[in-house]
Amino acid sequence: MNNYDLHVHTTASDGLLSPAEVILHARHCGLRGIAITDHDTVSGLRSLARPGDELQLISGIEINTDYQNQEVHILGYFIDVENPELLQRLEKIKQARLERAVKIIDRLQELGLQLTLERIRQIAGAGPVGRPHIARAMIEQGYVDTYQAAFETYLGRGCPAYIPRYRLLPQEAISLIKKAGGITVLAHPGLVQDQTVIESVIRMGIDGLEVFYPEHTQADIEQFWHLARKSKLVVTGGSDFHGTEKTRNQLGRAGINDQQFAILLDIAGISRHPG
Ligand code: AMP
Ligand code: ZN
Ligand code: FE
Ligand code: FE
Repeated sequence: MNNYDLHVHTTASDGLLSPAEVILHARHCGLRGIAITDHDTVSGLRSLARPGDELQLISGIEINTDYQNQEVHILGYFIDVENPELLQRLEKIKQARLERAVKIIDRLQELGLQLTLERIRQIAGAGPVGRPHIARAMIEQGYVDTYQAAFETYLGRGCPAYIPRYRLLPQEAISLIKKAGGITVLAHPGLVQDQTVIESVIRMGIDGLEVFYPEHTQADIEQFWHLARKSKLVVTGGSDFHGTEKTRNQLGRAGINDQQFAILLDIAGISRHPG
């Protein structure tokens, strides 16, 4: 049984449920633990009173980085969410996202779509502003019918309102997470197009691979399982849950079992108390 789902988004980034709602949902699903891993923020975790129940909550993050023009997402687990350097860096990323949103709104304006930064910030709530929030504002205003259409017509890579995001390098994200006492995992390696990028990230000193992931095929799972063993990396998994509407990424759809979680805890303990 996959009792631990270690890849979960909330309203602190682009998820639809608040951290408290996600925790309720996880209990309802019978999970033993989850990691909240919002994009480039720990604000959801900081806002949360520790759940005084049987559900294990792991403080996580998913930092979106760029390496050789490819998306590389780095997960961090068991991080100190009050670490000053981490918070400072995340604040900078948040600011850069806001500036980018303004540029996207300007492009959309040129294309005849009127959106306000104010509304987009409202949709984003406390978290960093991203294209998903802009897409939702576009739907709200009736400019597009679906979220997919917003990306395919305007916001996606190569589309007229596409603006690339300010990104860290994977090694910066790894070092930031480690300095905050966390362990680092390469998210959904099956979505990384180039095998050499995965090898580079392993050489950068990543601690684990997200082997179990809804979009991974059985062949992917076997390949990354063997790669993890060969490279002495910890194996993790998670659903990339963003809310109840996407069926493929339902909470608990992917994760790790009790035994794998125990190994992760063991490694986290070592990394938190080096030497
Ligand atoms: P951002 O961080 O603002 O660049 O937005 C990235 C998020 O937008 C991703 O996490 C996805 O949820 C969503 N996204 C990116 N590309 C697409 C796409 N082609 N179709 C639908 N959603 C997308
Ligand atoms: Zn997301
Ligand atoms: Fe990701
Ligand atoms: Fe994710």
